[in-house]
Amino acid sequence: MATARHDHWIDGRTHPPRGGARLPTLDPTTRAPGDEIAAGTAPDVADAVEAARRAWRDWADRSPAERGAVLHRIAEAVEADAPELSRLERACTGKTEAQLRLEIGMSAEYFRYYAGVVRAAGQGRVIEQGAGSHTYTRYEPYGVVGVITPWNLPLNQACRALAPALAMGNAVVVKPSEFTSTSTLRLARLATEAGLPDGVLNVVTGTGPQAGEALAAHPHVRRLAFTGSVATGRYLAGVAGGRLIPLTLELGGKSPLLIFADADLERASAAAVTALAANSGQVCSATARVLIEESVHDEVVDRIVTAAEKLRPGVDYGPLITEAQYDKVLGFLAGAGTPATGGGPLPGPGLYVRPTVYARVDPASRLAREEIFGPVLVTTAFTGEAQALRLADDTEYGLTAAVWTGDLTRGLRLAERIEAGQVSVNGGPLTVETPFGGYRRSGHGREKGLTALHEYAQLKTVSVGLR
Ligand code: NAD
Repeated sequence: MATARHDHWIDGRTHPPRGGARLPTLDPTTRAPGDEIAAGTAPDVADAVEAARRAWRDWADRSPAERGAVLHRIAEAVEADAPELSRLERACTGKTEAQLRLEIGMSAEYFRYYAGVVRAAGQGRVIEQGAGSHTYTRYEPYGVVGVITPWNLPLNQACRALAPALAMGNAVVVKPSEFTSTSTLRLARLATEAGLPDGVLNVVTGTGPQAGEALAAHPHVRRLAFTGSVATGRYLAGVAGGRLIPLTLELGGKSPLLIFADADLERASAAAVTALAANSGQVCSATARVLIEESVHDEVVDRIVTAAEKLRPGVDYGPLITEAQYDKVLGFLAGAGTPATGGGPLPGPGLYVRPTVYARVDPASRLAREEIFGPVLVTTAFTGEAQALRLADDTEYGLTAAVWTGDLTRGLRLAERIEAGQVSVNGGPLTVETPFGGYRRSGHGREKGLTALHEYAQLKTVSVGLR
């Protein structure tokens, strides 16, 4: 298929890049060139922020029910447009059908959830101070919010931040990853067609240094939400600190999956295989550090390896999304010793890495400590609950953890002790409703759930003397 050119989406219409430059994209399943996107620069960002600044007040003045109705229509539009959104997302990520269904379904769900939630929880409360006064609080939007997203779950992560931000009456400028911008551009068009006023959602594409930095630094951007790497998060925290504006940081992880001997080993091993295969391990919350009780360690590794060897490229797992990530993952594998399975690239032009498991890895090694962000699991054996907890927390990150045990009391004990933003015991689900975010260097602030609605609002107190 011929490649297409995509412009920015600003003030309800396409907007060619002011500098005239374009950036290429790549189909990671073949390494063939894909569509071109606009290489945004500071003047494009200024146009988008200006459009958002003009638009937010009228949007915020609408009732939560009116804003919710628009968000409902966006949810419906995303579902109806799933074939085209999938096509765009697949072209630059190579994601599998099942993964795309999941991500696009959840993208629509974010809008549906916040459409309802803002009507019930978007308002403040009355504070009783006795006769003679009437005091109440209001949640008010920031105005213009900047959202910067990564390449691993492009549409999904954009919607995760956009839905609560828009529900609360903000206008947003999104800067998606330069590798995976087209689904976010499409979303903005769908939102406009669904009745979102012009300027309330704008998308400026381009690189981090050219477009992202200009967005973070723009004086009219009053709040930032960033999902991506620790290095960029640290830089943006400095910018936000200097400007004294709030910032949500959803960063990386090296999350543990604990399997005790009394667990349902079949389901626990299947959970480990899901962490390996889902989006080829390019998931910030992937539980890629598998800690297994010594007495069942080898049996569980056998189960994982047997299942991993049945995974089919293109059906059960996709390619690495970027060339740089492919090189990075292969760099981890080179010189890492002999894996229990996998351990290198798949032959062919695509950026596929074989699902790889390293067993009995030294917890001090690079493989066990650094985020690989590819289809690679490492296992370590433990003896007893105290050692399991020590190993689980032996990381600078703290995004998620999973515990599998037949002893629910132990599961809950560990869930309360592990230093991570979310812990799933025996496969407990983490969904649109459940707050999501990191401890330690996995970031701060929360997305999803009721909490995120209030992250995109500032609380004002109004007090009236009645005497
Ligand atoms: P990245 O930090 O390189 O890029 C993320 C976004 O930031 C992109 O849009 C990029 O263009 C932009 N950016 C880069 N430099 C910038 C700068 N100086 N100023 C402003 N913007 C800049 O991250 P990535 O490689 O795209 O994504 C992978 C990382 O994201 C992994 O570490 C992963 O763990 C993390 N991640 C976290 C979550 C989460 O919710 N916690 C979800 C997905 C990915």
